[in-house]
Amino acid sequence: MFDGLKKKLDRFRKDVEDTAEEKAEAAAAEADDDAVADAETPADDSGAAEPAAVESDSEETAASTSDTPEPASEPSDEAHSEATPVETDDSEDTATDATDAASESADGADAAEDADGPESLASDAAKAALAEQEADDSSSAGRLKRAAAFATGKVVIEEEDLEDPLWELEMALLQSDVEMQVAEEILDTIRDKLVGETRKQVQSTGQLVEEALHDALYEVISVGQFDFDKRIAEADKPVTLIFTGINGVGKTTTIAKLARYFEKQGLSTVLANGDTYRAGANEQIREHADALDKKLIAHEQGGDPAAVIYDAVEYAEAHDIDVVLGDTAGRLHTSNDLMAQLEKIDRVVGPDLTIFVDEAVAGQDAVERSRKFNEAAAIDGAILTKADADSNGGAAISIAYVTGKPILFLGVGQGYDHLERFDPEAMVERLLGEGE
Ligand code: GDP
Repeated sequence: MFDGLKKKLDRFRKDVEDTAEEKAEAAAAEADDDAVADAETPADDSGAAEPAAVESDSEETAASTSDTPEPASEPSDEAHSEATPVETDDSEDTATDATDAASESADGADAAEDADGPESLASDAAKAALAEQEADDSSSAGRLKRAAAFATGKVVIEEEDLEDPLWELEMALLQSDVEMQVAEEILDTIRDKLVGETRKQVQSTGQLVEEALHDALYEVISVGQFDFDKRIAEADKPVTLIFTGINGVGKTTTIAKLARYFEKQGLSTVLANGDTYRAGANEQIREHADALDKKLIAHEQGGDPAAVIYDAVEYAEAHDIDVVLGDTAGRLHTSNDLMAQLEKIDRVVGPDLTIFVDEAVAGQDAVERSRKFNEAAAIDGAILTKADADSNGGAAISIAYVTGKPILFLGVGQGYDHLERFDPEAMVERLLGEGE
């Protein structure tokens, strides 16, 4: 399910991660070069013992909260600036550690100052720093670089870094049938969350991008969500649900699946065929009703859909049935007819929920239809069928945002049990997670 889109999202994550890593390395290399250049100056001159190496760029870190580094005269400043490279070298790859290391070394220098002459200790520390730096192997040099990049608080991701990956992502989303407006909203959120972002402690760029993607997708997918089960449980009985959407998308099967779903929750149902327009509609829904052993209320072809559903509500009241599931004609001559049909049902029956059904595999077409149906007669939510056969996910991502109404269920197969409650968090995890 949604495998195609999942791969595209993963590619975006890797693109941004690579770009940001390259940048961080470059920034770190710069900081490291400065450190080496400074460190090469003779250490026996107290002024020159100011390697200030890593710190020289680190205006925004705790390490640099002390006064402007003045060579040697202020023991704590001096020891601080000298000690920084030594400690940073041994530190882990996090800003916190680099910062802690810096403040520890400052503390150490203060203690040393009390115990002994600050001058000699300071230059000893500087020598030790240089010696250790020279003895470093390449892997700890890498750590130094990264620690320096963190310590300098370098901006990891800038707008220009995101330009190409975001453009690629936009193309990928559109190819996956994500509606244009929805794709733009996703990109805006990602941009807002990533631009100017520095890595926080214990956070890799991969995590940062994943969080941004997660939030951007969740924001559009979760529009309008409400607790469907609670709504049904708390509504006065019988609860009347009306289904709308074009033929062939799996509307009748979905009604049957819901009859099974409610049965599992201990709720009884009656089916009503309000699609009096189409020949064969009665037979189609009757097969399901028989298979599930449910009562079906149906009139002759050409009858009044509102009257059929009214009869079903009466039947439910008389027989203590909890839920009425009413089908309607999906395609009439004009959208005015469609609206008139639903308006009349509204007037006569006052359904609790009107639910739009379409197939996930229809992609953009399904999104467009959801918009039109919602305009014609406000829907309360949507069900997307055939999600099991959909690798794009565009409709699943877009419909809630476009209509302002939540996706309530996904159809995930042809069997009566192949119906899943739509969970936006699970959907995002499915799109971003490992495996299926
Ligand atoms: P309707 O004309 O909209 O009522 O469509 P039907 O309910 O008759 O379904 C049309 C076809 O889609 C049937 O073959 C169903 O078995 C199939 N179908 C319905 N829902 C799903 C689903 O979630 N997944 C799959 N793979 N097929 C489905």
